[in-house]
Amino acid sequence: MASTWVDGFGRQIDYVRISVTDRCDFRCIYCMAEDMTFLPRQQVLTLEEIYRSAQLFVANGVRKIRLTGGEPLVRKGIVELCAQISTLPGLDELVMTTNGSQLTRHARGLAEAGVRRLNISLDTLDAERFRAMTRVGDLQQVLAGIDAAQQAGFASVKINSVIIRGRNDDEIQRLTEFAIQRGLDITFIEEMPLGHVGRSREQALFRSDQIQSLLEQRYRLAPSVETTGGPARYVRLEEHPQTRVGFISPHSNNFCSSCNRVRLTSEGRLLLCLGNEHDLDMRALLRRHPLDDQPLIDAVRNALQYKPERHEFSADGEVQILRFMNASGG
Ligand code: SAM
Ligand code: SF4
Repeated sequence: MASTWVDGFGRQIDYVRISVTDRCDFRCIYCMAEDMTFLPRQQVLTLEEIYRSAQLFVANGVRKIRLTGGEPLVRKGIVELCAQISTLPGLDELVMTTNGSQLTRHARGLAEAGVRRLNISLDTLDAERFRAMTRVGDLQQVLAGIDAAQQAGFASVKINSVIIRGRNDDEIQRLTEFAIQRGLDITFIEEMPLGHVGRSREQALFRSDQIQSLLEQRYRLAPSVETTGGPARYVRLEEHPQTRVGFISPHSNNFCSSCNRVRLTSEGRLLLCLGNEHDLDMRALLRRHPLDDQPLIDAVRNALQYKPERHEFSADGEVQILRFMNASGG
């Protein structure tokens, strides 16, 4: 029988998110501070170490891998890494989350390398606001990236929007319209208090149920039991059945009881929960045991017994986790 990983609460872990770099060409206001120090290169997992980790995960029951970051497409060799991981026997799907800035160059290569689905982050359709929210990004470049992704032949392309009160909560319907016109799914995400980003998050929370109420003013929403294997809960728009709207609601709808995932950070920490600091130093094990996987397999199995039951984000948005999202593999 194929091996599987089960945590101390009986949850089967079959999904790993891997942050392939902590670097990024954007500086989104909810993700990073303006002035970031990135990891020295020798502290970041090499592509070979990432591939070996992926092999080991899949051999032990992981069925889905998401590559993320930082911005995964700024990592040199990323397309070749995708081609290697996507063909691992036993993996159901390799997917990626990207800010879309490099997709005009890479979309086709990624699809050919076996990346099945793409999530592209887009929080606003206003160019000036886009620049303000990403601090450096160019909206047109990302829209062109979305075009390129839609032409490249992925099984699905989805938009991710983090909604922040007073910043972009007035664009929820506009973003949904954009998704409808493009035939895309869209997921709205509540901001998570990871790292000190140089502004207060206290008043920023715009809850998923508030987003849903806004959408109900314009569309008829039908509940859906569909899942893409992650934390999002979906509704369908009755008038636009080709578009699903998802909600990731770490504050208002705790999803921990069905958690099926762990994260490998760019420096090789296996994070057992996004909202806690419990981890395993995979990098040390990978480097100490270059030819023998068994000590790593045993260490992961043991570490999973310490996967916390739930995240500890407080409702007031206060930061308890000092690591930033780009380092966590969001
Ligand atoms: N750079 C890529 C991107 O932006 O899509 C991938 C990495 S980014 C960390 C992954 C996702 O996390 C993005 O959809 C981003 O909007 C989201 N994100 C970043 N910081 C967040 C926060 N503090 N709360 C909620 N979502 C966050
Ligand atoms: Fe970069 Fe993504 Fe973080 Fe924005 S959310 S700063 S694009 S890693």
